[in-house]
Amino acid sequence: MSDETLLDVGEFGFIDLIKKRVAHPSFLKVGIGDDAAVLDLNQPEVVTCVDILIEDQHFKKDFSTARDIGHRAAAANLADLVAMGAQPVALMLALAAPVHSKVTWLIEMIDGIVEEANQLGAVLIGGDTTRAEKVIISITAIGELRNKPVERGGAKAGELVIAAGRFGWAQGGLNVLQKGFRSPKLLVQAHQRPKIEYQAALNAASQLSSMIDVSDGLAQDALHIAKASGVQIDLKAAALTPDDLLIEAALGIGEDPMEWVLTGGDDHAFLATINSDRPIPTGFRIIGEVFKGEPKVTLDGQALTGRLGHDHFAS
Ligand code: ADP
Ligand code: MG
Repeated sequence: MSDETLLDVGEFGFIDLIKKRVAHPSFLKVGIGDDAAVLDLNQPEVVTCVDILIEDQHFKKDFSTARDIGHRAAAANLADLVAMGAQPVALMLALAAPVHSKVTWLIEMIDGIVEEANQLGAVLIGGDTTRAEKVIISITAIGELRNKPVERGGAKAGELVIAAGRFGWAQGGLNVLQKGFRSPKLLVQAHQRPKIEYQAALNAASQLSSMIDVSDGLAQDALHIAKASGVQIDLKAAALTPDDLLIEAALGIGEDPMEWVLTGGDDHAFLATINSDRPIPTGFRIIGEVFKGEPKVTLDGQALTGRLGHDHFAS
């Protein structure tokens, strides 16, 4: 099927190909092939979220393999569920693509989605397929809540700010690619396929007062917690020193590594707050403190100036 396009296999031929690649666990009563999927979940509370990725706007076929793009698309949703403290169980894929798209590219991309979900035991249960000028990947994720949801608004003065995962790596990797380089490899890979501390966040969830996955940048996402909770968040520069790899790569292309750390999105690190009497959960480290006061984010007590992070509607 190497050169076949969507036009060759048709919508239903393509759906059959997808169907062959997905697992069918026992909680999935009806999977791909009927009008809708039926799930028999263990928990009464269900958590759901959706994201859209558009070719050339959110991903470039030149920068990543199809499989990487699938991983990244699934990761964005899985991280959102986990940031609520929910165990992901299922994904739905709304896919639009040009009729001349190679089926192998699309199936590789779907394999990436399936693999990323598989890390958490979640499966692809359905979707929709249609044509468009560019590839559009919209994933809806469904998760189960075993404890109370971990919202953004629960941070309290006196608590610690903690994090699991990396900051600035994906942004560094993207900048390197945008300047036409392919290395450092580790940085480029961080953009192509984020490594996300799902399990650390799930294990910690019941201990946390708030949590968010960092997709817009650390400063911006910390501000989301600060505003929702009505607190000030002070980040500690000493806990956020960029790795040598980041420093070298940034200097090489005239960028500021600390800006990557503070404003880079897409690493999907988990940012959380916790009562200071509790032990720091495995996989997390302390990166700041919560104070009473006007909702804002500071670095060692100093105001953060400039652009805080990513806003899709900003110029
Ligand atoms: P309907 O016309 O009833 O909406 P479709 O023909 O769109 O049904 O889909 C048939 C089945 O294939 C459904 O179970 C749907 O969930 C599944 N499906 C369609 N596209 C995808 C996709 N891109 N990924 C996963 N499942 C899909
Ligand atoms: Mg449909």
